[in-house]
Amino acid sequence: MTDLEAALRGVSLRVTRPRLAVLAALRDHPHVDTDTVIALVRVSLPAVSHQAVYDVLKALTESRLVRRIQPAGATARYETRVGDNHHHVVCRSCGTIADVDCAVGHAPCLTASDSSGFVVDEVEVVFWGICPVCAARSITQQPSSEGNE
Ligand SMILES: [Zn+2]
Ligand SMILES: [Zn+2]
Ligand SMILES: [Zn+2]
Repeated sequence: MTDLEAALRGVSLRVTRPRLAVLAALRDHPHVDTDTVIALVRVSLPAVSHQAVYDVLKALTESRLVRRIQPAGATARYETRVGDNHHHVVCRSCGTIADVDCAVGHAPCLTASDSSGFVVDEVEVVFWGICPVCAARSITQQPSSEGNE
């Protein structure tokens, strides 16, 4: 039994080829959207339908083998890094997402100044900025201020 099969059985999900393929795709390509998952799964299972992949993502997310993240203005992304409280940094320019370890390590990792009597169990933290690739591109595209005379 592979570790992916064990993961499915651990949450009482039947082991199927589409489920294994989706898990393998997300393990190798974290933070991809549904269309990318479909393309990756079709490399090994060419006949798999969109609906089948949607259903698998739903089942895996509901059983918490997969974490679904959706930064504002972006399509939903999926990853298999679950069970920790890590956050994400998102590039405003190209949408690339990277993991950011939580300094605290468990939810909620921020304390509300006043939670109005609510029992808070989670805080959504998203870091926004410019990734190294986009930052380098914007520097090289800047017009040179020297040698124009
Ligand atoms: Zn970028
Ligand atoms: Zn992540
Ligand atoms: Zn945190």
